[in-house]
Amino acid sequence: MLKDHRGICHICGHPEAAQVDHTPSRKDLVRMGLDPNNPRYLRPAHGGRTGGCPYCPPINGRPRRCNQRKGTGPAAAAQPPAPLITSRRW
Ligand SMILES: [Zn+2]
Ligand SMILES: [Zn+2]
Repeated sequence: MLKDHRGICHICGHPEAAQVDHTPSRKDLVRMGLDPNNPRYLRPAHGGRTGGCPYCPPINGRPRRCNQRKGTGPAAAAQPPAPLITSRRW
């Protein structure tokens, strides 16, 4: 399933993402009565055992783990926008 997205991290837009993240979150999917195992809700993200993004600047000397930095915290907010590789336009 990862090859469908070519391992592009849906958070920072860089390749080589090896973890699967739920978008929306698994909790939200369940609450909405949707199947959290449906591949359409899964997106690659950096994180987990495989480590963080090899392209983003390290945070506190550690690779950025995108899927653990969603949405919150000054560290995430202070990140410069990564060059996005995305098909979505805002
Ligand atoms: Zn990432
Ligand atoms: Zn990155």
